[in-house]
Amino acid sequence: MNSKEKYPKIWEILEQVSDPEIPVLSIIDLGVVRDVREINGQIEVDITPTYSGCPAMNMIETEIKATLDQHGIKAQVKLVLSPAWTTDWMSESGKNKLREYGIAPPQDEPITVNTLFGKPEHIECPRCKSKNTELISQFGSTACKALYKCLDCLEPFDYFKCHR
Ligand SMILES: [Zn+2]
Repeated sequence: MNSKEKYPKIWEILEQVSDPEIPVLSIIDLGVVRDVREINGQIEVDITPTYSGCPAMNMIETEIKATLDQHGIKAQVKLVLSPAWTTDWMSESGKNKLREYGIAPPQDEPITVNTLFGKPEHIECPRCKSKNTELISQFGSTACKALYKCLDCLEPFDYFKCHR
């Protein structure tokens, strides 16, 4: 039995905790919550930061404790740094929510020379789905995002670039 089946209520409550940087995404959508277990009657939640040194993680930890506390559950939060978070852990519904929010979700692409240098090619515009886009800046509104511009609808948009 995995921890989702064992503690469905906890996972359900954790759905209410949103990512401080992208409020439309829950920490479950992001795949930040790795495990939930019970030790000596206390709940322990494992989380993995989306990138190391992410200042949002302290907020997430506080938020997890506060939200579970509202439901009468005392919890400890444990930071698990290995294995490192990858965008593969982001749920499909999470990717859809990002798109609706106007941020291009991380794309599954074979690693090319360009992606190695942090310049993934052909990022799809979240508004018009055009792949005719160009990188404006490696850093968008936060370090986790790059700023792109769509050459068809001419709108700038953020690309969620943090992988691993
Ligand atoms: Zn566009």
